[in-house]
Amino acid sequence: MLRVGLSGGIGSGKSTVARRLVERGAVLVDADQLAREVVRPGTDGLAALVERFGAGILDADGALDRAALAARAFADDGARADLNAITHPRIGALTAQRMAEAPADAIVVHDIPLLVEAGYAANYHLVVIVDAPVPARLRRLADRGVAEPDALARIRAQATDEQRAEAADVLLDNSGPVEELAARVDELWSDRLVPFERDVRDRRPAGQ
Ligand code: ATP
Repeated sequence: MLRVGLSGGIGSGKSTVARRLVERGAVLVDADQLAREVVRPGTDGLAALVERFGAGILDADGALDRAALAARAFADDGARADLNAITHPRIGALTAQRMAEAPADAIVVHDIPLLVEAGYAANYHLVVIVDAPVPARLRRLADRGVAEPDALARIRAQATDEQRAEAADVLLDNSGPVEELAARVDELWSDRLVPFERDVRDRRPAGQ
């Protein structure tokens, strides 16, 4: 199994790359999706959040009201630390479980927006960073309904492009049309990921 960490700034094209890799045959572990799964109604994650932050974080259907949680959890550092202490270990456990469930010859792609900020680069055989100029990202995000001030605030809160480039084994340029990106992803898949996965499997002692 080859573990690939996939990241990039907001609106850089991570999901687009992840979808293309899945089309080629990768197994996707989506960090945003797992973050939602661990606080679904009926989970002990949601119960722990309610115990800490009160039933006011639930909507009328008993699901997590993210805006209400954010208002409480981002009020002070202690509250934010409590939120992380509840969610992070659960997301980590579910990530490990999903990775372990993948076939032995899988190329597993972990799409994780905050890979660099969290210092996770060493967890992967290969770190792929999607890179696009800020104006292009703002335009694409605007098309998706994200207002420019919100996008800029998120960009400022994240790692810089330089910090991400430093963590990258592969830097995927997404400044051009999406077809160009798709061609780069296909090349990455056949020229690097598939041979690397074979190599990793060959090197592994039998039975592991
Ligand atoms: P987020 O950080 O919000 O999760 P992301 O990094 O996963 O975003 P995508 O969702 O893949 O990025 O791309 C952001 C938007 O830009 C999407 O609407 C996508 O369709 C569009 N997009 C991605 N690449 C290109 C491109 N090369 N040309 C035009 N639009 C693009």
